[in-house]
Amino acid sequence: MLFSSLSEYYERLEGVSSRLSMIDIMTEMFSKASKEELCNIVYMTQGVLGPPFKGIETGIAEKFTEAAIGIATGFSKEHVYDEYKKAGDMGSVAEKLVSNTKLRRMENRKLEVNDVFNTMKSIAGISGEGSQDKKIRHLAHLIASSTPLEARYIVRLALGTLRLGAGDATILEALSKLATGSREFKGELENAYNTCSDLGRIADVLAKHGADGIKDIRVELFSPIRPALAERLPTAEEILKKMGDACSVESKYDGMRTQVHMSKKGKKVVIFSRNLETVTDMFPDIAEAALKDIDAEEAIFEGEAIAYDEIANEFHAFQETIQRKRKHGVKEKSKELPLKLFAFDLLYVDGEQYTNKEYEKRRKKLESIIKKGEVIRLSDNKVVTKPSELEHYFDEAIGKGLEGIVAKDLHAPYVAGARKFSWIKMKRSYKSELSDTVDLVVIGYYLGRGTRAEFQFGGLLGAVYNEDRDMFETITRIGTGFTEQQMEMFRDLLGKIKIKNKPVRVDSLVEPDFWVEPKYIVTVRADEITRSPMHTCGRGKNEGGDEVGYALRFPRIVSDGIRKDKSVNDTTTTSEIVEMFKQQRKTRIEK
Ligand code: ATP
Repeated sequence: MLFSSLSEYYERLEGVSSRLSMIDIMTEMFSKASKEELCNIVYMTQGVLGPPFKGIETGIAEKFTEAAIGIATGFSKEHVYDEYKKAGDMGSVAEKLVSNTKLRRMENRKLEVNDVFNTMKSIAGISGEGSQDKKIRHLAHLIASSTPLEARYIVRLALGTLRLGAGDATILEALSKLATGSREFKGELENAYNTCSDLGRIADVLAKHGADGIKDIRVELFSPIRPALAERLPTAEEILKKMGDACSVESKYDGMRTQVHMSKKGKKVVIFSRNLETVTDMFPDIAEAALKDIDAEEAIFEGEAIAYDEIANEFHAFQETIQRKRKHGVKEKSKELPLKLFAFDLLYVDGEQYTNKEYEKRRKKLESIIKKGEVIRLSDNKVVTKPSELEHYFDEAIGKGLEGIVAKDLHAPYVAGARKFSWIKMKRSYKSELSDTVDLVVIGYYLGRGTRAEFQFGGLLGAVYNEDRDMFETITRIGTGFTEQQMEMFRDLLGKIKIKNKPVRVDSLVEPDFWVEPKYIVTVRADEITRSPMHTCGRGKNEGGDEVGYALRFPRIVSDGIRKDKSVNDTTTTSEIVEMFKQQRKTRIEK
């Protein structure tokens, strides 16, 4: 497929706001790809050069693109910069300057999709001395061979700012239509995606083996599995009612979720965070222990990494644990703040996939392969049959300074990538406050007024994710509780991702001073969830026939600014908010 055709499809995709039209255009676009191209087209449509967990980036900053556009079109860097100040988007600048180029065009060269993809990947692979110049030259060559429209997308791809607004769910739906002509196949594709976290791999299997190949996508070492998530319930009675006669209760450690992939043969360990980023460098002690203290040749297991002071028998909370994520001084920190990994699930061991086995079997195997070491431990657990036992276990966990408990269905498989009742959490906060914290994606921000004017930052517009619509719906404006340091941080970070128009996947009735690309997550606590005509979260008719959504009352940020361990995919969902609203009502009635 020619890159010019792909660019035309991208232009069409940018022009539509309805999800259904987007799916139709995307299905047609995918149908034009050859077997060798579909995988790369899917990555490019996501705006990446490989599965996100591999973190392949061109390493090209705006300054480099200014230089590359200059070389490719004969304009000075200063001129390119002036154009950028006017347009605010380097892709549009490239498009304009390529169409007015002062140099002779390489007209006879027709770029294929894979030419562009492979050049981008080789740019990503350039490192060492002189790498900046080499990257610029490669990019300049690509721009010089392109049409104006192609240049728009080449530059955006290189910068990682393609932003077509297509979420994973939309791409999966288009792939479903491509494979079977209907949206019905999406569920199976989703399962495969939850297993391998790689949309390109799914597209490749579809292209080469058709829909039948999808069921053969298995858990693979060093490809992260999308994490299973827990539902919430406020009482031991409700948890046991939901679970049946018995369930396992485990301590809920408030640390960092990690997924450890280990192979003794290759002496290789890769640790993934909750949002599937590779964080091995942050946990050298856990990586070392994974090779020593696991009684298996290969394994994938999950656990919570938490700072634990053995002598004082004290757990340190998330904020302290996350300090370990700082790139520098990891070694020093590991002495100061020794981490333990409390392993709670097993997903794969020695060629055998465990995700489809019952909890009981996974737990038993996990217990048998974890040797008692210094760093890796088993999570506490107990099988309970009565609410009083569960309640007692919960009280003990709180007494140890833990966050609460996670109850687990003894007979459920590991439900990757989904929030299901096979895991139910009950936290200390459910007892004292009206609701749990929520993770919101920032979709816009406000300028400061009064004393805050100097910070150029006065608050955030937060949204939740509606899974059925693959859209972000607004739920609150957060205007208080920021420290000066946070205000500066938000202004700087959000200033870099502001966009002119409302992002495609955002549904909003309110307009912030600036829209931003949905990228950053903040954890927010509120006094309660209310119904409100201002917000689009779960909007529908109330008993009185008025259109209302859900909103947060008195929201304040509890994370230390942005949650770097969570991504857009971890945003609290609309259905969770509706569920929390119901719980809140019930708790009040009971009180
Ligand atoms: P929260 O902010 O409440 O931790 P979350 O959205 O990060 O929620 P959930 O799946 O809702 O994640 O809650 C379970 C989380 O609790 C896991 O993601 C994991 O990080 C943590 N956790 C701590 N101990 C356990 C355990 N024993 N079993 C499962 N998860 C545990």
